Amino acid sequence: MLTIRLMSLLTLLLNVPVGNAQNQKAGLSIAPKSVSVGQGEVARWAGNCLRCSLEKRAWSPVNGTCYYPVDMDMKPGSYTISRRTTGGKLETATLQVTLKACTQEDLKNFPKKEYINVAPQNQARAAKEAAVVNPIISYKTTVRPAVFDLPVGKPAHSLPKGEGNFGACRTFDGQPRDRHTGQDYPVGMGEPVLSAGNGRVLLAANHFYSGNSVYIDHGNGLISEYFHLKSYSVKPNQTVTKGQKIGLVGETGRVTGPHLHFGVRWHGACINPGFLLIDPSDIPQVK
Ligand SMILES: [Zn+2]
Repeated sequence: MLTIRLMSLLTLLLNVPVGNAQNQKAGLSIAPKSVSVGQGEVARWAGNCLRCSLEKRAWSPVNGTCYYPVDMDMKPGSYTISRRTTGGKLETATLQVTLKACTQEDLKNFPKKEYINVAPQNQARAAKEAAVVNPIISYKTTVRPAVFDLPVGKPAHSLPKGEGNFGACRTFDGQPRDRHTGQDYPVGMGEPVLSAGNGRVLLAANHFYSGNSVYIDHGNGLISEYFHLKSYSVKPNQTVTKGQKIGLVGETGRVTGPHLHFGVRWHGACINPGFLLIDPSDIPQVK
């Protein structure tokens, strides 16, 4: 008792934390906080957050909750995440990233042959388009404040179950190509495509691979992507609201048929958009 009192006094005088010492004395131990997520998933640390960081990168919380999006290609292993609370406390936890094997998707007898053996002028075109898109979707140290909350809105009035092909490793007529960066939803030709949240259009353009494409900035480093549209009805810098019609489902670009490709980038990480459509309390939590 006397020891504890002395230590409390020491804490007051020197501002030394004695929690661990006290708990060890009482036979208790404080388990370090942690969360385990697969590649392409998101971790969540809820409540009273001012600032969130993952290794050397940092960003703001969304309505007081820190989210840690894990890129589909992030190396499996242990990472340090932290948060600064509104009380000024700095807390750290371990983010365990686990391997998520990509499903194999082999597209045979691909109908649009220009996407199999890509002509030099189309390769040059695609490279030019990538040079425009890559800076838009990469991590930035400063971003606009969040104008969305989770879950985000569905990108179609009636959204069927996704095709489960987020992150798929794909071959087109036997030729390996880049991994699939979004989720494909079997929404019918000409159905309206809706903005997942309030935001600002970053890009609305016709690109070689993604066809008619729209990119929307929702603040807090969250970008949503809608590809292969029949047409789009928004232009860059236009402000959009959650659920606003931005275009129609189509089959432009490298596709086998009409569908909606929906993708998200958050703080530069390519993640499964399905995580933003579920109740946030179902996202893996730091505890
Ligand atoms: Zn797709």
